[in-house]
Amino acid sequence: MKMAVYPGSFDPLTNGHVDIVERALNLFDTVVVSVGLNRDKNSLFTAEERIDMIRQAFAGNPRVKVDCFRGLLMQHVQGLGASAVIRGLRAVSDFEYEFQMANMNRKLCPEAETIFLMTGADNFYLSSSLVKEVAALGAEVKDMVPAVVLAALNRKYGGAK
Ligand code: ADP
Repeated sequence: MKMAVYPGSFDPLTNGHVDIVERALNLFDTVVVSVGLNRDKNSLFTAEERIDMIRQAFAGNPRVKVDCFRGLLMQHVQGLGASAVIRGLRAVSDFEYEFQMANMNRKLCPEAETIFLMTGADNFYLSSSLVKEVAALGAEVKDMVPAVVLAALNRKYGGAK
């Protein structure tokens, strides 16, 4: 059984994240979407809300698991017995940070590979922060996030459609 961990803030889950999970499922038996809690202070949604939304978005798929971690990602990866870390790449701007992080993670845990996946063209411009920003200003985000996230954004911002 090949397992990969897909770590991130997921504040909130977007269709870009969903696209990456679906692509990772073509390569791994199980994908664990792991909500990182280290940079939690400025998040819009609590860890529980984020985990709950991800669970609901993938409710029909038993090969997707959802959990959270605090501290070192690679300790979490080793604890789960996963063989890879999945990260998504959008534009060149993602690359430098991801490159540094992947090399650090390899140093910490040489047996787990970091695998970078690209979303489809429809999703590559999406980021959680941009979705939050435009939703807060009342823009239409229904094509950018799963239905459960859209409902949650509506509750937070009232005006978002
Ligand atoms: P983090 O704070 O760890 O960057 P995010 O939730 O913003 O957490 O992103 C998690 C991962 O998903 C990152 O690897 C990020 O590059 C990737 N990702 C997010 N949105 C997209 C997208 N639209 N296309 C491809 N990858 C994405």
